[in-house]
Amino acid sequence: MALLYEGKAKQLFTTENDDELRLVYKNDATAFNGEKHDVLEGKGKLNNAISALFFEVLEAEGVATHFKAKISETEQIVRPTQMIPLEVVVRNLTAGSLARRLGWAEGKELTEPIVEWYYKDDAIGDPLVNEAHIAALEVVKAEELEEMRMRALHVNKILLKLCQKAGILLVDFKLEFGFAEDGTLILADEVSPDTCRFWDKETGEKMDKDVYRYDLGSLQSGYETILSRIGGVVHG
Ligand code: ADP
Ligand code: UDP
Repeated sequence: MALLYEGKAKQLFTTENDDELRLVYKNDATAFNGEKHDVLEGKGKLNNAISALFFEVLEAEGVATHFKAKISETEQIVRPTQMIPLEVVVRNLTAGSLARRLGWAEGKELTEPIVEWYYKDDAIGDPLVNEAHIAALEVVKAEELEEMRMRALHVNKILLKLCQKAGILLVDFKLEFGFAEDGTLILADEVSPDTCRFWDKETGEKMDKDVYRYDLGSLQSGYETILSRIGGVVHG
């Protein structure tokens, strides 16, 4: 079946059914807008397993997502989605670009979760944008943006509860939404340690893509810990 799109971490293929796509998780790791790139054995299957598990939990809690089924170690069947070119970032603690922007140390607890929008455009480095910029860009209507904010905060509540039970601090994460064939807004893309910051609750150890970004050790071993703590099977 035809390759629809190849990104940095995943591929999307058509299937025999118009209402299904095959999403393949690759072993590629990239950081700093593609400047750093490596192939890490086992990363694709870990992200596929973790993302499938998070999507199953979100669906069970009533969040509409593109996820239909995990069909192999590295593949999922998803609903085709007209993607909205925005990244929605939700933050519970300071880290990464927020720590740099505010001049704060990492790991400071925020009194309220912060929602941020980034305009998805690699050529200009996915800039931070506000509601007025989004209105000018005409990527989504104001009501749809508000709906995305509410959904992102709902996802945060669900993931916080799951992470709390697993001894994980959910520092921040990125979501992508789109419109399904029937025009409804759904959560798409992935929810994995590539797109979320996860720290060990006791030791503060990083178990997400920052391990790769900043050469802190083995990315796969952190991802395996996340998978087993949220109830997945690491080997087999
Ligand atoms: P990037 O494009 O940032 O390099 P990936 O390698 O993760 O990212 O590629 C996945 C691409 O597929 C992203 O552009 C994402 O917006 C898009 N995508 C994710 N889920 C769906 C879906 N259900 N339908 C259509 N496109 C999707
Ligand atoms: N993130 C992502 N894709 C991006 C940018 C950010 O998944 O293109 C995630 C990132 O992993 C983190 C959160 O969004 O969980 C916030 O990222 P931040 O803005 O701090 O990014 P940094 O500048 O550190 O890359």
